[in-house]
Amino acid sequence: MLKPTDIFSFEDSIPISLIRQYCFCPRIPFFYLVYGISPELKPWVEEGLSFHERMSVLQRRRNLSSVRFDEGRFVPHVDVKSELLKFHGRVDGVFFFNSGDICPIEFKLAEKEEIRRAHVLQLSAYALALEEKYCKSIQQGFLVLGKKGKVFGIRIDEQKREDVKKCLEYIKASLVAGLLPESSASERQCCQCEYLNFCADRF
Ligand code: SF4
Repeated sequence: MLKPTDIFSFEDSIPISLIRQYCFCPRIPFFYLVYGISPELKPWVEEGLSFHERMSVLQRRRNLSSVRFDEGRFVPHVDVKSELLKFHGRVDGVFFFNSGDICPIEFKLAEKEEIRRAHVLQLSAYALALEEKYCKSIQQGFLVLGKKGKVFGIRIDEQKREDVKKCLEYIKASLVAGLLPESSASERQCCQCEYLNFCADRF
C-alpha cells in the first residue's frame, strides 16, 4: 500500500479542480492524489464535460457578445500555476479587457442556474493564480451557468481569497496526515459519487 506521507508534502502543487471536489466531499482529493484513483466517469459527468467543451467553443466563436463584454479578447483554456500557494490548473477562459482588466471565466453545467460555493472558490483560485501569472490585481470573475449560459459576475474579495487558502490548507493537511478524512456527505451525494466503490463505510 502507498504511504501518503512519502508521496505528498505541503510543497507539492495540487490541481485547482480539487477545490470544487473537496467542497463536494473532503475524501475525493485524498482518493485522487494519495491513492491515484481516478474512476471512470459516470454518464452525467461525461455529459457535463462534453457540454463544457461545447460551451467553450460556442463562446469563443461568438466572442462572448451575448454577455455584453464591450471590448476585449476572450482566450479559452489558459493554464495557470501559483508558486506561492502551490496549486495549478486550466481555467475555461480568460477575458482580457482593453482597459487592462483581466477576468477568469468558468462554464458550469448545473441542473439549476444557481451559484454554488464550490464554483465560486474554484473561480477565485483561478483568479489568484492569474494574478501571479500576469502580475495584476483581479477584482472580478464570471460564472456561466446552465445550458442557456446565464452569466454571473463574482467579486474576488478578501473573504473569498481567505476561503481559498483555508480550503487548500485543509486539503493538504489531510493528504500529509495520510488519513482518510471524515465525510458528512449525504446518501444522495454518495449515490452520485464516482468514488462510492472505494468508501467501505458507506451503506
Ligand atoms: S462515496 Fe460519499 S463519502 Fe465516499 S467519496 Fe463519495 S461522497 Fe465522499
